[in-house]
Amino acid sequence: MNVLSSFNLENKIAIVTGAARGLGKAMATGLAEAGADIVIPDINYKEAKKAADEISELGVETLALKCDVTEKSDVQDMVQKVVGKFNQIDILINNAGICKNIAAEEMSLEDWQEVIDINLTGVFLCSQAVAKEMIDNNKGSIINISSMSAEIVNYPQPQCSYNASKAGVSQLTKSLAAEWAEHDIRVNAIAPGYMKTDLTKEIIEKNPERKEHWIEPTPMKRMGKPEELKGLVVYLASEASSFMTGNIMNIDGGYTLY
Ligand code: NAP
Repeated sequence: MNVLSSFNLENKIAIVTGAARGLGKAMATGLAEAGADIVIPDINYKEAKKAADEISELGVETLALKCDVTEKSDVQDMVQKVVGKFNQIDILINNAGICKNIAAEEMSLEDWQEVIDINLTGVFLCSQAVAKEMIDNNKGSIINISSMSAEIVNYPQPQCSYNASKAGVSQLTKSLAAEWAEHDIRVNAIAPGYMKTDLTKEIIEKNPERKEHWIEPTPMKRMGKPEELKGLVVYLASEASSFMTGNIMNIDGGYTLY
């Protein structure tokens, strides 16, 4: 196969959780630019529909669904709807995630649990439900959005539940990759560093001193742009990475080097 055609995602169905905005929306756009039809399950249906309508202007089919990734029934219902409409699922991007900056000694069990439920249990529930379809078809690519926080402790903001959840995502990625390789399902993870989304832009505007901790220690001396994830997600989703599984790929301007 010609190398450029191995990146082509025409006739593939990709689910990107939490893609109503931010990194998920950018990655969903990249997958659509490579030809994939896109499903956006998000807790915020109105924004998911807006993002899906925008992406459909690229000439692909899109579907927005209301789905809380922590609710097993929502996730099962979402998978049934996708199979009902498209008959197949080729790609799953487990992107939905939250972060709470609370000191460990002050964190309530509810705050701890919410982060673990969305960031880690949500990844498990979506992967399990989608893998059942992928196992029947004997193919698939699952990409979990981990974080450099799986490997380093961010500073100065305290976020122990987030860091622990992302370390869990990275090890879950390797475990699922090992279990599902026999079904030709590849499972990899992307671990972004500080990315310039609406949310992080607002944090920097309110706390300009964060630049010192977020940007100065980054060898490339800047934050990432959401669209800089497009190339990696298309690579991992496509035949271009057909012998790669169980990898956690940092994309962080070099932050984790020091
Ligand atoms: P974001 O802008 O907050 O987008 C996350 C989306 O997920 C939102 O649309 C959110 O809906 C949705 N969501 C939240 N809880 C959900 C649930 N239970 N079920 C379904 N959807 C849910 O976040 P982002 O910055 O793009 O981050 C996306 C992923 O990248 C996350 O996993 C994050 O940890 C990871 N990441 C981000 C960065 C960064 O610098 N931004 C760096 C490393 C890793 P609502 O708007 O209604 O909450």
